[in-house]
Amino acid sequence: MTQQAVERFATLAGKLGLTRRDQHTFYGIYRDYPVAVSMFGEGETRGLLFQFRHTQEQASLPKDDGYEWERDLEELVTSGRAAVSVEDRIAWLTLYDMQSVGQQVGVVPLLDGYLDSLSSAGITGAGKLCHYCLTNTVDSPTFDEGRVGLICRACLLDRTATRAGELEGSAAGLSASVLLAGVGAAVGGVLWAGAWIAHDWIIEVVSRGKDVIGVPTTVEIVWLVVVGVLVGGPVGYVIGRVPGHGVRWAGSVGIVGGIAAVGIGEVLFSTWLIYRVRGEASVKAGLEVLPMYWRAAPVIYLIVKSCAALLSIYFAYRLARPKRTSLAL
Ligand SMILES: [Zn+2]
Repeated sequence: MTQQAVERFATLAGKLGLTRRDQHTFYGIYRDYPVAVSMFGEGETRGLLFQFRHTQEQASLPKDDGYEWERDLEELVTSGRAAVSVEDRIAWLTLYDMQSVGQQVGVVPLLDGYLDSLSSAGITGAGKLCHYCLTNTVDSPTFDEGRVGLICRACLLDRTATRAGELEGSAAGLSASVLLAGVGAAVGGVLWAGAWIAHDWIIEVVSRGKDVIGVPTTVEIVWLVVVGVLVGGPVGYVIGRVPGHGVRWAGSVGIVGGIAAVGIGEVLFSTWLIYRVRGEASVKAGLEVLPMYWRAAPVIYLIVKSCAALLSIYFAYRLARPKRTSLAL
């Protein structure tokens, strides 16, 4: 029975030409209205919730008795088997029992009647025009946080811009984030060096008196993620705090900062190696020894380190990018 309801739902969505969003939701354009439909309920009794997007704002909507619904819909509403509600740029239609409506009237004819009533009340879509600027044309609707909308790329970017509302970012914001990225990279670099000093020390202790040591893969993966967060985290975190550096720049500065953190970390690490042997702390000597150290290191060790480096850069990038704000379609 449940399967039948799911199939009926998919068939209906197919008739309306809608795209699947997830198991319970389809969306698309129907008769010029961006539409989304969700199925709700359990077992045999499944309901449908339709949302149709129109361009009328609250102030220009007709009063409650300003609509003339078709007789079938009127009856369903009166008997409590359907509900209609027209709001600011969105019109809802709820059918509480999809199957009985399907048998008595047919869902598609009912929808068509509903949309006829809406358009005779002056509540229409905007064809292929973006509902937000009413200027740019849009080919396909967007679905976000339970709402469908016809929105152009420009309006979309505008709405996803950062909390400061800045897309490009100011020069001051950008230089602040570059500066902070430097500080983050220095902190990340120290943590990188510390992490690998600890890593090698642990390996040394564990392998004492053994020929071969095996490190479980899961331990190695956890280790990589920990290093990634420790090293990329400070970089991404400080960049993420800066307002007004622009969405596009934040990720790039994060990547560069992540690479810098790893680079600084490796130099510090080889400086420490030199210090252990010679007892003098010279960054210059560390820098000189680094290529030799890489050539001499086992391949597997370099692979593990490279993975940790990539993860660090990834975390720096992810954290640097501002949180996506709701589109509020
Ligand atoms: Zn637009």
